[in-house]
Amino acid sequence: MLRVYKFGGASIQDASAIRHLGELLAGKAPRPRAMVASAMGKTTNALEALLQAARQDDEALYRRRLAAIRDDHLDVAEALFGPGSAVADELEQRLAELDAAHHSHRDAPFPFHYDQTVGVGELLSTALVAAWLNEIGVATRWCDARELILTDDRHQAANVDWAPTRERIASLEQVADEVLLTQGFIGATADGAMTTLGREGSDFSAAILAEALDADELTIWKDVPGVFNADPRRFTNARQIARLSYSEALEQTWHGAKVIHPRTLAPLQRRGIPLTVRSFLEPEAAPTVIGPEPGEGDTLPACMLRDDQLLLEVSPSDGSFVDEALIATVLTQFAEAGLHANLIDVEPLRLRLVVDNQPERLAPALEALTERFSVARRDGLVLLTVRHPDEALLEALDGGRTRVAERRNATTAQRLYRAAECPDSWRLPE
Ligand code: ADP
Ligand code: ASP
Ligand code: MG
Repeated sequence: MLRVYKFGGASIQDASAIRHLGELLAGKAPRPRAMVASAMGKTTNALEALLQAARQDDEALYRRRLAAIRDDHLDVAEALFGPGSAVADELEQRLAELDAAHHSHRDAPFPFHYDQTVGVGELLSTALVAAWLNEIGVATRWCDARELILTDDRHQAANVDWAPTRERIASLEQVADEVLLTQGFIGATADGAMTTLGREGSDFSAAILAEALDADELTIWKDVPGVFNADPRRFTNARQIARLSYSEALEQTWHGAKVIHPRTLAPLQRRGIPLTVRSFLEPEAAPTVIGPEPGEGDTLPACMLRDDQLLLEVSPSDGSFVDEALIATVLTQFAEAGLHANLIDVEPLRLRLVVDNQPERLAPALEALTERFSVARRDGLVLLTVRHPDEALLEALDGGRTRVAERRNATTAQRLYRAAECPDSWRLPE
């Protein structure tokens, strides 16, 4: 039975979490063939903030932020291995390289600089995890994902070049009982420049590995026991789903169920590899299994929330109708800016699009669109998507709030509300 495991940031956030991961693996026989790990805790956010300081040429802030990232990692190294370990030297070395690279990348385009900076989190975390696993007798081989996952140069959302990636992963030498550990989230172009696969992309990395190794199973270890019919942090009475199909999981994650990255499903589906979502906090708790067959999750109502949404209304400036040419222009602008429309609604006099509020991506797209069309925007919105809804459920969730926009098809309802009218904590009607 060939297994691949994925551990996210929360499962390796500090020394005690890494110890816990070690116990979990040491106690498991047989071991997984390969493992993917994310950056520690909130390191990716910290690296994004570091990049921001570098791009703004704020040297003092940049130094403070770099020192904080360094301290976080060296503290874990010291707690695990004591002072002056080999892994501490390795961390120092990688951080020194990162620091040196900022000078040469300062004038490079933002997405390239982003990947060279933000992808380092996974290199740091996997150095620590590999060293710790070897220390406790779980034989582990650290592999560089930049030598395994070949991508194009679409920085921040790179596309995988599948044939060479599969070949490289499949031809990794297998040593009995040795676990391969690699980084989630990152790959590299044919020229060797680091790329990233999109925020939360480590789940996708694990699926790439599982597909290339023709694994029997991929297990993603989370801080929740499985996939629920709504985010349990937001919906007080969300219920765990025992089984659901790849296609239903794709729908829910695409609409914002942040428990798995939506790109994870396709590689698994291609080979029929089941995905188990399990809790690293309660490893014995019943997990969720996603596979080719439909399960209860394919009919149970499920809710997804997207915060900090923006509604854009685009109309022809000359008072004519919205036509195919306008739609094509707007969507091409979106694609070029790397923007994703969470809801699209076409009316004769306006095209309405709901997007995540990402100022640095929106600015160039809006500038180009306002040159040709009338564009109105509304901020501070929340998008609720309900799969398999019925009228009573929608009415209960509405709670008398004003709907700024809505869309409905046979299986999915979407409603846009003003954030100021939404509760912090939601409830599904019993
Ligand atoms: P990782 O450690 O792999 O990065 P994440 O934090 O990204 O894990 O994903 C786990 C979180 O996803 C949970 O803590 C939970 O709050 C959230 N979540 C959102 N939607 C769902 C859902 N439908 N089912 C379970 N968890 C969900
Ligand atoms: N570390 C990356 C992120 O936080 C990738 C991941 O965790 O999946 O987005
Ligand atoms: Mg995550």
